[in-house]
Amino acid sequence: MVIETQGLTKRYGKVVAVDGLDLRIEAGEVYGLLGPNGSGKTTTILMLLGLTEPSAGTVRVLGLDPTREPLSLKKQVGYLPDSVGFYNEMTAWENLAYTARLNGLPRDLSRIRIERVLQRMGLAEVAHRPVSAFSRGMRQRLGLAEVLLKEPRVVVLDEPTLGLDPEAAQEFLKMIQSLKAEGITVLLSSHLLHQVQTICDRVGLFHKGKLVLEGRVEELAQRILGGAYRIRLEATPLDGLVERLQALPEVSRVQTDTRGLR
Ligand code: ADP
Repeated sequence: MVIETQGLTKRYGKVVAVDGLDLRIEAGEVYGLLGPNGSGKTTTILMLLGLTEPSAGTVRVLGLDPTREPLSLKKQVGYLPDSVGFYNEMTAWENLAYTARLNGLPRDLSRIRIERVLQRMGLAEVAHRPVSAFSRGMRQRLGLAEVLLKEPRVVVLDEPTLGLDPEAAQEFLKMIQSLKAEGITVLLSSHLLHQVQTICDRVGLFHKGKLVLEGRVEELAQRILGGAYRIRLEATPLDGLVERLQALPEVSRVQTDTRGLR
């Protein structure tokens, strides 16, 4: 198991941002953490990365405890936050070279890897242009290129399609999907199920800090919701969806038996 949490909980004062989360993600999976704004996605990600400490429960990523072994974890886990900062006056290449230096990569190796990630992200032709001229889509791809420099085993992306037009979003999702072919485990968060469902092996639906439904998208749609709802599931942004799902009698059954969905 690459990511495993048990009873993972985070409280901010009286607010329970994440409430008793049991999550199991296997090697090579693309897992979508889905839920409306404020449902606890980012807090979960921050705990997985060791950037905030859990109030209760356990978390292991690649067998490591993120709060105790943050440096070992950082070497193997790439993180693309929902907004990435670059040095705008510097070129894409220079930004990557700077990150490579921070990662402690030797010069020769970093040159090879920079070439490779620029190529992979479709940025080779603009490598020597200043980032200030880049579109939001190009910046996202540069962000992923930066993450891939250290050749991570796990990549975590927070709302990777936020602010992208539909075409750029699909293009970027294809790039995320290509990571799977290399055996990289991917966890991404989104509040738009219809946008990310094509690339997710499984999704977990978050609602008020709790994982209320989990499974393969087709299974959730077909087995639980039936044909008519499936169409709406694909077409509807996630806000408000969980409430509607919970109103269905089938869903209470599923909540108590999520294992059957795996
Ligand atoms: P999402 O990523 O799904 O939008 P978050 O994890 O950001 O959700 O937030 C979950 C809940 O925790 C929200 O109610 C939010 O207001 C609260 N929260 C998140 N971070 C903090 C913080 N640093 N201090 C206090 N409350 C927070």
